[in-house]
Amino acid sequence: MAKYVYDFTEGNRNLKDLLGGKGANLAEMTNLGLPVPPGFTITSDACRHYLAEGVVPDGLEQEVAEHLDALESQMGRTLGQADDPLLVSVRSGAKFSMPGMMETVLNIGLNDESVHGLAKQAGGNDRFAWDSYRRLIQMFGKTVLGIDGDRFEEALEALKDRRQDTDLDANELQQLVETFKGIVREETGKDFPADPREQMRLAVMAVFDSWNAPRAILYRRQERIPADLGTAVNIVAMVFGNVGNDSGTGVAFTRDPGTGRQGLYGDYLQNAQGEDVVAGIRNTIPLEELERIDKHSYDELLTIMETLENHYKDLCDIEFTIERGKLWMLQTRVGKRTAAAAFCIATQLVDQGLITLDEAVTRVTGDQLAQLMFPRFDAAAEKKKIAKGMNASPGAAVGKAVFSSARAVELAERGEDVILVRRETNPDDLAGMIAARGILTSRGGKTSHAAVVARGMGKTCVCGAEELEVSTAERTFTAPGGVVVSEGDVISIDGTSGQVFLGEVPVVDSAVVEYFEGAAPDDDLVRAVDRIMRHADAARRLGVRANADTPDDAARARRFGAQGIGLCRTEHMFLGERRQLVEDLVLATDDAERQAALDALEPLQKADFTQIFEAMGGDPVTIRLIDPPLHEFLPDIVELSVKAATEEATEKDRKLLSAVKRLHEQNPMLGLRGVRLGLVIPGLFAMQVRAIAQAAKEVPGATPEIMIPLVAAVQELEAVRDEAAGILAEAGVEALIGTMIEVPRAALTAGQIAEAAEFFSFGTNDLTQMAWGFSRDDVEASFFSNYLDLGIFGVSPFESLDREGVGRLIEIAVREGRAARPGLHLGICGEHGGDPDSVHFCHEVGLDYVSCSPFRIPVARLEAGRAALAETDSDTR
Ligand code: ADP
Ligand code: MG
Ligand code: MG
Repeated sequence: MAKYVYDFTEGNRNLKDLLGGKGANLAEMTNLGLPVPPGFTITSDACRHYLAEGVVPDGLEQEVAEHLDALESQMGRTLGQADDPLLVSVRSGAKFSMPGMMETVLNIGLNDESVHGLAKQAGGNDRFAWDSYRRLIQMFGKTVLGIDGDRFEEALEALKDRRQDTDLDANELQQLVETFKGIVREETGKDFPADPREQMRLAVMAVFDSWNAPRAILYRRQERIPADLGTAVNIVAMVFGNVGNDSGTGVAFTRDPGTGRQGLYGDYLQNAQGEDVVAGIRNTIPLEELERIDKHSYDELLTIMETLENHYKDLCDIEFTIERGKLWMLQTRVGKRTAAAAFCIATQLVDQGLITLDEAVTRVTGDQLAQLMFPRFDAAAEKKKIAKGMNASPGAAVGKAVFSSARAVELAERGEDVILVRRETNPDDLAGMIAARGILTSRGGKTSHAAVVARGMGKTCVCGAEELEVSTAERTFTAPGGVVVSEGDVISIDGTSGQVFLGEVPVVDSAVVEYFEGAAPDDDLVRAVDRIMRHADAARRLGVRANADTPDDAARARRFGAQGIGLCRTEHMFLGERRQLVEDLVLATDDAERQAALDALEPLQKADFTQIFEAMGGDPVTIRLIDPPLHEFLPDIVELSVKAATEEATEKDRKLLSAVKRLHEQNPMLGLRGVRLGLVIPGLFAMQVRAIAQAAKEVPGATPEIMIPLVAAVQELEAVRDEAAGILAEAGVEALIGTMIEVPRAALTAGQIAEAAEFFSFGTNDLTQMAWGFSRDDVEASFFSNYLDLGIFGVSPFESLDREGVGRLIEIAVREGRAARPGLHLGICGEHGGDPDSVHFCHEVGLDYVSCSPFRIPVARLEAGRAALAETDSDTR
C-alpha cells in the first residue's frame, strides 16, 4: 500500500518531490541531530490525490492517526489534552519555496479547556495561553474557514488602541478570544471547532486547498513552477516563542543574501510567535542583539548555522524559536539571494574548499548575470534624497508612486512605470509587485515579505523606510521635512543603497558592464564575475557570436567576448539618405537604370563592410544579404497618396505611389523578401557580394561569411550561390556561403540544402513564426497574455525556444544537414541565442555557436559553460 506519511526521522533532503522542501529539510535537520521539534509529513502525493479526486486517499486518515499516536507517546501528552495539551502546527510546504503563498496554522489543539492546561503548564502564564488561543482562532478562521482576515485584524487593532500586541494582558486576550469566536459564529453560522483532531483534519485539507489559491497560482506562473506538484503538509509539535521575554522567534541567513558577505544576518523578535517577524507587526531587532539577551541560545545558533552551511555547502536561511532559553530549529533551506550575492557566495565557497569552481559556475545563472548588468543611479547626478530604508533587493527603479496593487497593475497596463509603495506587502500584493518597477515599504526588515519576494523576482526593493508615513487611504506618503508624495508623483528608489529620492534620477551603467567593457576588476563582485566567466569560457563547447550591424555594436560585442558576428544585417544600410537610391532601384524601367542605382549603392556598402571587418579584427563576420521586402524602404502609402494629390507633387511622387501600390502585400512576412528578392531583382545580391569581396580585400585577415536568408528549397540557394561564388572567385576572395534555416521546409529538406550550403544558421524568430503560423508583431500584443493565462505555453516561444516544435525542426536539420555534409558549421542567430534555456538547447543539439545581441553575450557565454558542465552534473538548473 502507498505510504503517505513520513516521520521526520524517515525523510531526508533528497525527498523534496515527495515531502516538499520544508518537510525534506526538517527531516534532514532532524537526522543531523539538530533540535527540531518532532513531527511528520504528509506527502504531496496525498495532496495531488485530494486535489484530483476531491477526497483524501484511502488509508491516509489511519496513517495520520498512527503517526499522531506515536508523536503523542513521544511527547507524553495527547493533542489538546485538557490539563497539559500537546499542540501542533499544520504547515504547507511544496517542492519549491513559495514564500507566504500557502497556509500554515499554529497552536492546533487549543480549546476552552486546554487553554487552561496550557497556562498551568507554563507556570500559570495565562497571558501566553490566551495569546496562543487567539492566534489559533485568527489563523484557523482565515485559512481554514475562509473568513476575511481583516475582521480579526480590526478587532485586534481596536483592542490594542495603538499599543503593541505585547501590552495586551491576559484578560484582554481572553476577551479577544471571545470576540474572535463571535466573528467565527457570525461568518460561518457555526462555533469554532473545539475537537483537536477535527481542527487538525480540517487544517490539513485547508493546506491542500491552498495550493490552488489564486495568489499561489499567480506566483507559480511568475516563477514558472509547474501547476500540478501539490504541496506536502507538515505536522510539527509546537514550541513557543510567546511565553515571555526569555522567548522569541527569528529568521536568519547564514550570510548576507544581499551582498553575500559572510557574517550574521537576521531579525529577532522577543515574546513573539511564528510569522510575527516577517509580518512586521512590531519592529524586529538585529540578530546580533540576541547575544546580549540570551548568550547561550545565540552561541548555539551560530554553531548550528555553521553546521548547516558546511552540510548544504551553500547559504541557508533558517527559522528558529527560543522557548524559555531553549533553541528550536523550525525550518531551513538553501536561501534565495540577490544576483550579486550569488556570484560572491559561489566563489567564497570555492575559497572555503566547500565546492569546486565547476560547481560554482553551476550555482549562478545567466539571468542573474543579466541583472547585474542593469544600470544603476548616476552618482554624480543631483538627487533629492527623502528617506533611507533597507537595501532589500538591488537595482535602480524610477516610476510613479502608487499605493495599491490594483492601481499598480492598472497603470502598468497603460505602459507607465510605477513604484508600489506600501506600509508592508502581503501575498495579496503579488500582482502589483509584478507590475511595478520597484517596491518601497515603510515597515519590515530584509526578511519581510516584500524583501523576500522582490529578491526572488529580481525586482528593485527598498523596505523598512521607517521615516515614511504611508497612508494607503489617502494615496500619499509623507517624508521627513513635510515632503508629501501623492499617487502619480515620480520617485526613484535605489535597492542597492536603500535610498529613496524625489523625482527622476538618471541612471548609468553597472560595474559589471564596465568590466565587460574592459575595466579591471576592482571590487569583490566584479572579481567573482571575472573568475566565474573565465571558468565558464574554459568549459564551454559552444562558440558565442554577436548579432551586430554597425561597427560600434561589433566593437562592443568583441569587448564582451564575441568570437565573431553571427548575424550582420544589411537592411539598415539602405536607410537614411540611401533610401533615394532604393527608390531609384524600384523605379528603374530598364537594366541600365537599375544598374546605375546598384552601382551607386556598391561603394557605400563596401565602406559599411570595411568598417565592420576592421572592428572584428579577423574574426568571422556572417553577413546576411538583404532580407526585408523592398517596400519597407519606400515612403508610407498614406503620406504618399496625400502628397501625390497636392499641387507640388512631382512626377517621381506619382511613380513612387504606383510602385508602392504595386509592391503592397497582404502578408509581407510571407511575401517577396529574402532569397526571393535576390532572384527576382537582377544584380541586387551580386552588388552586395561584390561589396563584401572588395571590403575583404581591403582589410587584411577579414573573414566574411555570406548568408542567404529565407531559403526554402535548395534550388533557390544554388542559383544565388553560383552567382556569388563566381564573384568571389573573380575577386580572389574566400568566403563561406551558407544559408539561414528559418522556413520549416528548409529544416525538413536540410539534407538537400546542405549539399549547397557551407553553413546553416537557424533564424529562430522566423522559424518560430512560421512553425506556429503566427506573426510576432500581431500576436504578442493581441493574445499572448491569454495564451499564457490559459497555460498553452508557460513562456512565449519568442522568448525561449519551443523545444517540442521548433526544436524538433532544428534537430532534424542538424541531423540531416550533417549527414549530407559532415562538419557542416551550425549556429543560431535568432534572439533565442541569448536566452538561457535556449542556449542549453543549442548545446544539447550540437550547434557550433550561438549568436545574440551584444548585451546578451556574457549571458550566453555563462550559460554555454553551464550547459557543458551540466553534462557531468545533471542537477544544476
Ligand atoms: P511559511 O512557509 O509561510 O514560512 P511556516 O510553515 O514556516 O510558513 O510557518 C509560519 C511560521 O510559524 C514560521 O515563522 C514558523 O517558524 C512558525 N512555526 C511553524 N511551526 C511551528 C511550531 N511547531 N512551533 C513554533 N513555531 C512554528
Ligand atoms: Mg517558514
Ligand atoms: Mg528571418
